[in-house]
Amino acid sequence: MVRILDLEEYAYKNNIPIMMSDGIEFMCDYIKKNNVKSILEIGTAIGYSAIKMALVDKDIHITTIERDKARYDLAVKNICDFNLENQISVILDDAFNVELNNMFDLIFIDAAKSQYIKFFEKFKKNLKKTGTIISDNLDFHGLVKSNEIIESRNVRGIVRKLRNYIEFLENNKEFETSFYTIGDGIGVSKWQS
Ligand code: SAH
Ligand code: MG
Repeated sequence: MVRILDLEEYAYKNNIPIMMSDGIEFMCDYIKKNNVKSILEIGTAIGYSAIKMALVDKDIHITTIERDKARYDLAVKNICDFNLENQISVILDDAFNVELNNMFDLIFIDAAKSQYIKFFEKFKKNLKKTGTIISDNLDFHGLVKSNEIIESRNVRGIVRKLRNYIEFLENNKEFETSFYTIGDGIGVSKWQS
């Protein structure tokens, strides 16, 4: 029988970037306070955040997408161990190949950080008028707001893309976004009224 702590430990040991604890607390709180029942998650990893969110209420349903087969397999196993297979559906595919027709209360973007604008633009059509898009990792370990010179070309690329994403959200005519320095940095976007 796996426990939440086991998932956290596994992720830590295997360098799987699951949500930080205050970040996931914020999400679960948001879900509770706003009566969120349907969630689309981009980036399942091993199912940690999906399991935490599903445990908030038994009426919550989550569709979550993961492109990595090994992580997908582990997520399915973990979800079964928690008896949450009725609440969580995992899709094995690249999110850009997935076409969904249902509408969600909450869309949670937590996948490849260089593609956030594309995820946002692709899936906003699946967001209810009263819905919310939450994006994780907008601070990227503090690098996004820092002036320090970044050695790694790869990391530099991610930071540039995240800065573009924040600018995209700040200047967005359709959505109003609030930014929180919680966890690794969280954006909460709602349709403009
Ligand atoms: N939400 C999880 C952590 C996700 S880590 C949690 O907090 O528990 C990000 C995951 O997104 C990785 O497992 C990665 O394989 C997946 N991913 C990245 N780009 C993707 C894409 N385009 N489609 C589907 N999954 C993707
Ligand atoms: Mg994340």
